[in-house]
Amino acid sequence: MFEGVEEIWLDGEFVDFEDAQIHVLTHALHYGTGVFEGVRCYGTEAGPAIFRWEEHLDRFYDSGEVYDIDIPFSKAELTEATEELIRREELNSCYIRPIAFYGYGPLGLNPGKSPVQVALAVWPWGAYLGDEALEDGVDVAVSSWRKYASSQIPTNAKTTGTYVNSVLASQEAKANGYAEAIVLNKEGNVAEGPGENIFLVRDGEIYTTGLAESILDGITRQTAIELAEEMGYTVHDEATISRGELYTADELFFTGTAAEVTPIRSVDDNEIGAGTKGPVTDDIQTAFFDLVESGDREEWFRYL
Ligand code: PMP
Repeated sequence: MFEGVEEIWLDGEFVDFEDAQIHVLTHALHYGTGVFEGVRCYGTEAGPAIFRWEEHLDRFYDSGEVYDIDIPFSKAELTEATEELIRREELNSCYIRPIAFYGYGPLGLNPGKSPVQVALAVWPWGAYLGDEALEDGVDVAVSSWRKYASSQIPTNAKTTGTYVNSVLASQEAKANGYAEAIVLNKEGNVAEGPGENIFLVRDGEIYTTGLAESILDGITRQTAIELAEEMGYTVHDEATISRGELYTADELFFTGTAAEVTPIRSVDDNEIGAGTKGPVTDDIQTAFFDLVESGDREEWFRYL
């Protein structure tokens, strides 16, 4: 995955890949007290351009705020460092991973005055669930693991420690021969994928689970909602979706920075629609890829 990556930005410096090291007594290693982002830079017709960088950066700082992780760099500094890193790595398109975490310090649960460390890494990353998945769709299974409720751990923050929930769901799905999981919330309704939001199509209208369902408010989710509305679709973006409604959906698809817009062709071995990418999914996927390939919407791209 990281072949050819030469440098990482760590705490204000560009360091060689091998030298991007932290101490084993790092607070975040023990307690998951870090926040992170996943962003894509696309090789658009206007050159490399970071997709919805400001929104990702805002979510990054907001995630930090939940845990008093006071990121010791300004948004402008992180932006400059990210752009410089992409240039140094000579990448046209890539995935960008900013992370901020409590570093080496006292190992009491309250991180107190532990230093906040920040790193940025970039690497080439193709279709998360595979090129074939984008075309034909994926087979998914409802996980036996539930999503934690936002009353237990904030679900609007992208916190390193909470991803053990996603790891469990993802491992279970793969072990059972599925490409990905769908995770239900504490009430037993649909929350999201381990690293994706979920959309359902019924009778030509689009539904996606609302923030009250313990989801991360995905930036690709917001993009898909906007693109769909611009195409004239009715989008219900605060939906509650039961497990049974998944099985009877006309179409289902995932959205995410890594997964982009990926059709779902079956859930728990129940074929969804015709068992291929449906027409509404196709419309939204086409609009999404047209957008990121052209780079043609200034407010959503940061051109390098
Ligand atoms: N839900 C979870 C749990 C995720 O990890 C992600 C990926 N960040 C998403 C949804 C999709 O969010 P985005 O579109 O901002 O990548």
